[in-house]
Amino acid sequence: MTIATPRPNQDLIRPDKDKFLSEENPFEAMMSRFDYAAQRLSLDPGLYKVLRSPEKQIIVSVPILRDNGETDVYVGYRVLYNTSRGPAKGGIRFDLNVTLDEVKALAAWMTWKCAVVNIPFGGSKGGVVCDPSTMSNPELERVTRRYTSAIIETLGPDSDVPAPDMNTNERVMAWIMDTYSMHKRHTVTAVVTGKPVEMGGSLGRREATGRGCMLVTRQALNRLRMPVHGSRVAVQGFGNVGSVSAMLMEQQGMKILAVSDKSGGIYNSKGLKIKEVIQHVRQHRFLSGYGEAEQITNDQLLTLDCDVLVPAALENVITSHNAADIKARIICEGANGPTTAGADKILEENGVFVIPDILANAGGVTVSYFEWVQDRGGYFWDEETVNQRLERIMVQSFDEVAGMAGRHGINMRIGAYMQAIERVAAVHRLRGMYA
Ligand code: NAD
Repeated sequence: MTIATPRPNQDLIRPDKDKFLSEENPFEAMMSRFDYAAQRLSLDPGLYKVLRSPEKQIIVSVPILRDNGETDVYVGYRVLYNTSRGPAKGGIRFDLNVTLDEVKALAAWMTWKCAVVNIPFGGSKGGVVCDPSTMSNPELERVTRRYTSAIIETLGPDSDVPAPDMNTNERVMAWIMDTYSMHKRHTVTAVVTGKPVEMGGSLGRREATGRGCMLVTRQALNRLRMPVHGSRVAVQGFGNVGSVSAMLMEQQGMKILAVSDKSGGIYNSKGLKIKEVIQHVRQHRFLSGYGEAEQITNDQLLTLDCDVLVPAALENVITSHNAADIKARIICEGANGPTTAGADKILEENGVFVIPDILANAGGVTVSYFEWVQDRGGYFWDEETVNQRLERIMVQSFDEVAGMAGRHGINMRIGAYMQAIERVAAVHRLRGMYA
């Protein structure tokens, strides 16, 4: 066995300096909103301290045998932020930019997200610092299985339930489920969600996040007394969330003026034909080269004259630098963390109605919850049932957050945080402190 010298991108600690100093630090971004919401709720100081701290942080090393016979060692994280309301729920990402700070922030976000839509889960997140684009399929499988076995004590349908995230998919979930089941000596489907439908996945899961975005956008338009039919939409990101949001919004009669991906954006003032655009991406991987539209940049898309903007690609795309130029009346945050705290202030001053990520993209985790329920009951629902139950939860959650925001005279983001913190805090009070 040869032990390879760690390459720079595999260092055990990744002090990503810029990320920690700027307005884009994910943990700071989450905490600044949490602090303000906690203050508005007059949260008692003891509970404030408890809810500000992750319950469990696991750091593991993940040695894998490369196809060429060398051994590489990656770092893996799993953070359980809070499990007072139920098993921890949160995705696993494989990416070179994974840091402990980011995983902590995302685990906290999952805690608030599950509480906003009132599903009985806490929040977690995990990641392995690696570059899956340089790995063969067998290497990816070995990383997945070794990481799963390294964190196996925390996993389980009653304790911690992973899901796909950046660069992981249903294939990876199948390997995690198999590894866990082999250790337990029996099949445990409910240990992960986002699995293939053939092995206990849920119908409607693939479209759930985009469907949720469409549902809350419709609620927001109604609330602002803007017509749904004919309202003009721009969508950044044309992957799972962006393309499904665009397609379902188009089906509601909304006009999708522009969409974009890594390769840039396309714009048509008369509205794009989303089915054709999806077909183009299926054939050519990217949007570039699509005929019936003008080319625009991602920056232009964000500041387009439209009614609804759906950032559904990356975090930190709406910052204090471009927030003043946003012309949309509604922003539906399909992505996690697309807006910085600095931008929030500017958007609020300009009267932009932001449907925050922890509400807007919670459709995905809601149907993950449905998947877990179906696995545990061993009885599977048809797609119509899944969609109806999702709609009921998204509409109710939107109305509850809007109610909270209205009562306290605050924006939807702080309203969502207050709703979530109040629910988590209430359970802590009922359970008391085991000291
Ligand atoms: P995806 O990988 O399917 O799609 C991402 C899209 O973003 C692609 O079209 C890609 O080309 C585009 N993109 C990448 N870099 C870009 C750049 N620099 N500029 C513009 N576009 C760029 O991912 P997804 O599942 O659609 O997730 C998108 C976002 O939604 C992420 O923030 C994710 O965390 C969040 N989210 C996803 C789900 C889900 O169920 N998939 C649930 C909740 C939140």
